[in-house]
Amino acid sequence: MNEYHTMANVVNSPHKDVPILDQDSFEFMTRRWSQYADRTALVDSGSGDEYTFAELENVIHNVAGHLQSLGFKRGSNLAYCITNCVEIAIVTLATWKLGGVIIPINQLLKQGEASAQLTQTKPDFVFLDEEQYRKLKDAIDDKCVIFIKESIDGILSFATFKEPIQWEPASMMSRDVEADAAIFFSSGTTGLPKAVVLSHVNLVSQFNGWASILETDNLMMKKWTSSVLYLPFSHLYAHLLLNLNYIIGATTIVMPHFDINRFFQVNEQYKCELLILVPPLAVLFAKNKELVAKYDMSKVHTMFCGAAVLLSDVAAELLRVIPIKSNHIAQGYGLTEVSGAATMMPSHSFMKEHGPPDSPMSVGVPIPNVKCAIRDLETKECLPAYGRGELCYAGPGAMKSYLNNMEATDAMIDTEGWLATGDIGYYDSNGYFYIVDRLKELIKYKGYQVSPSEMEDLLLTHPKIADAGVVGFPDVECGELPSAFIVLKPGEDLTVDEIGKFVTEKAAPFKKLRGPIELVAQVPKTGSGKILRRCMLADLQKKHGNE
Ligand code: AMP
Repeated sequence: MNEYHTMANVVNSPHKDVPILDQDSFEFMTRRWSQYADRTALVDSGSGDEYTFAELENVIHNVAGHLQSLGFKRGSNLAYCITNCVEIAIVTLATWKLGGVIIPINQLLKQGEASAQLTQTKPDFVFLDEEQYRKLKDAIDDKCVIFIKESIDGILSFATFKEPIQWEPASMMSRDVEADAAIFFSSGTTGLPKAVVLSHVNLVSQFNGWASILETDNLMMKKWTSSVLYLPFSHLYAHLLLNLNYIIGATTIVMPHFDINRFFQVNEQYKCELLILVPPLAVLFAKNKELVAKYDMSKVHTMFCGAAVLLSDVAAELLRVIPIKSNHIAQGYGLTEVSGAATMMPSHSFMKEHGPPDSPMSVGVPIPNVKCAIRDLETKECLPAYGRGELCYAGPGAMKSYLNNMEATDAMIDTEGWLATGDIGYYDSNGYFYIVDRLKELIKYKGYQVSPSEMEDLLLTHPKIADAGVVGFPDVECGELPSAFIVLKPGEDLTVDEIGKFVTEKAAPFKKLRGPIELVAQVPKTGSGKILRRCMLADLQKKHGNE
């Protein structure tokens, strides 16, 4: 066992601790990238717009000035619901420059779903594109300032925000690093999607931890000069990778939508060295050897994968399709509630020094300043190596709270600051972690969160449905497929197709019931009415032949 294990079965980060900085996210990033002023920071693969780091800082300054002239104050909230574009990166940093809070909302949500998030977070400013504007304009509070990417209907357009404006940022300069920086949505361990409030300390500690990993002598991984970002900015994973690029002065090529041909074209064009993956893409690439072979991927030296379980045969196949020298896909594990990553797979040189993992499918070791433990599900005791239980996290990334929901916050973070992730895992004798199952209800379809409770509530709004239970049905390509048990009201008639159609109309496409839908006499429940999801899943697997 390595020296970084403490006595009480708690695994400390093997990396050197980094200081908790008195800098907010804007100051941290602009200080770091000042050394790369002339390098290209952002490219929009849709519009073709490009910014060097110096130009980026300049345009952020202008956008912040315009926002301030419209009444943006310290603590103002700015929501965006928009297809990926460089403007999101710009408006995020302009918001932070002014001491405001970003609220990224998934643009795939249907009107009702996105409106619920707007109602919950009450933004002062909303940034949309034309499609989202048409969808959401009636759902936005009339006191809210709306601006959109393209100019229509006399609404403020982002293009004018880029114009120079005289303004004085000095008054905004005294910063509060404990202040809120961002609100992302996550359903956590149970219930409906909740608004996760992250502070600048949360985010900067995550960014600075990565900066230290990337820059210490004990290099965790090789740096890269560019990478393509297709992950949606409504998810923290996209922001984390964007900011990693800022930290090392690498170019981020922002893609509006994922398209496999375009993805490889852009990677080839920019000679990208880092491939950012989520497991469904690893499957897709592994299955499309001939297509991938048309492109020159020889510059790729690092592949990151996170957000859901990566299967070992998929990883092995992908490494045959896109061979890299390390012959290894570096997995990270984390969650919105810990501000990004909790653990990350280290480099081979690290492994030589500290010993290797038992298996390359490990999600690595705690990042700087983070400790992890595995707690027995019943006794809550911290378990030694190889004991399976709930992975718990302690560190500076632990969220401030769920917005206006102390009960759910307290249920997740105990009085000593340990955050119970709802994931089941273990660590090996060298302190490398593995995720083996999920205790929490959450369904992950292609890395997107689907809350079973939210889907059940939606199904119960159908006049013919008496009861519903929703679970994730395992699927190699997509992770899990939302599946349902449905009890009809007495005497009612409804087909499985009609149920599927009802959900498709009302919910975002990633929430569609793609797995089995079963009409049943009752949803299995405990005496107290809690749905027995494991029992449902076992029934589904028995019937539909999945293991
Ligand atoms: P999110 O907050 O959307 O990032 O979702 C976090 C959840 O995704 C975690 O609690 C895990 O259930 C799952 N997850 C993230 N990374 C991994 C990984 N590398 N392996 C397995 N599950 C993961």
